[in-house]
Amino acid sequence: RMSTIFALSSGSLPAALAIFRLSGPMSKGTLMRITKKKELLPRYMFYSKIYDCTGQVFDSAMAAYLPGPSTFTGEDTAEVFVHGSVAVVDRMTETLSSLPGMRHATAGEFTKRALLNGKISVHEMNALGALLQSTTPRQMEQANRALKQGDWLHKSITRLRCKLAIVADFGEDVTSNIDEVRRELEALLIEIKEKRRKGLAGERVRKGVKIVLVGRPNVGKSSIFNRLCGFDRAIVSTVPGTTRDSLEISRIIGGINVTIEDTAGIHYSNNPVEKDGIKRSMQKMNEADVIVAVVDASREDREILHIIPSHIPHIVVFNKADLMDKKPSIEGSQVYTIATASDGCESLEKKLEETLMELCPPYAELTLTAGVSEVEKLIEECLSHNDIGLMNEILQMASEVWGRADTNEQLISDIMKNFCIGK
Ligand code: GDP
Repeated sequence: RMSTIFALSSGSLPAALAIFRLSGPMSKGTLMRITKKKELLPRYMFYSKIYDCTGQVFDSAMAAYLPGPSTFTGEDTAEVFVHGSVAVVDRMTETLSSLPGMRHATAGEFTKRALLNGKISVHEMNALGALLQSTTPRQMEQANRALKQGDWLHKSITRLRCKLAIVADFGEDVTSNIDEVRRELEALLIEIKEKRRKGLAGERVRKGVKIVLVGRPNVGKSSIFNRLCGFDRAIVSTVPGTTRDSLEISRIIGGINVTIEDTAGIHYSNNPVEKDGIKRSMQKMNEADVIVAVVDASREDREILHIIPSHIPHIVVFNKADLMDKKPSIEGSQVYTIATASDGCESLEKKLEETLMELCPPYAELTLTAGVSEVEKLIEECLSHNDIGLMNEILQMASEVWGRADTNEQLISDIMKNFCIGK
């Protein structure tokens, strides 16, 4: 027999209200017990005194009993909207814990039950996790789209298997249908490749983009960093090599969450602290989604530009443009700035926005692609056969391979990391 779990499903205290959620066979009995009601109407909000185990009234609240299976978890569920004070929530927690068959839920346990009861797929669970974590409209919208879409590949494979079954049943008379299935399989292969590309961009929207500032000491990285932060976060110093560690801020540029990191100057030195800093700068560059390389426009030194990993999008900032003899012409991903006067910083922001648009284009999509390459191989194999029975068997295999995601404990626990207690 399943235990009945409960948790505070609303946010931090104090608050106007605190929402407790219960799920499992004892939901109804427990709600009757704490409200002292003799009967509960399903899906009916009612107002009641709330009693603790000693029979003392400690709050009055709205509550509802929601019988399974048409609930989020698929189980009998109850919700109680008590007042959001620490004392009320503590008393409610004590009361619920002490009642028979009740125990506190772990993070994401309601959702896990929904998955086990077949109410949602692992794809929807992933999307739900992303929705709960969303801080920008972009993140929210892509999570909602993924929620609505559900398990895209499962739907396609199932549809194709149905078509193959029809061809198998009606045999020679409808031979044209096998070509139709082939065309759809080919289209599915293209769709899978596209999903991968869209998924990569979607992951960036979800996780946020990492921008790393690099350049030799004293070129004005900290000054640029401060302009990008909008306030004096980094210490600006005239002594070369004083930015020995990394500083990081988070903000939103062009609707995308970004972290901007100011690294230690890349500088060839025997000073062990500096040396360590250089190594880290190189590492940071390789971890970056976007690199902003700063050079001193008034000097010849451009060495940094040769060590930028070429596969990572980058913007070159020529700072201290005020110290240059002649005004340069701007091309491509270059900007000229006078960080101390905030000159050119708007162009830099605009360039960053453009780069982010390329990394996180509107087609970005949240998709789980674990196991998709195996499915891809099977579909390719399926296409290499003509025998309907064999094709169907291979598609069934693809379906099983893909369906494994629903029982993949590692994947599920990775997704569960996005959930808090009460969801
Ligand atoms: P970092 O070591 O690369 O982080 O460089 P800082 O931001 O600490 O700047 C080093 C020095 O250059 C400071 O004295 C700044 O005031 C100065 N500086 C920064 N940007 C400019 C600029 O655009 N023009 C001029 N003339 N000086 C600048």
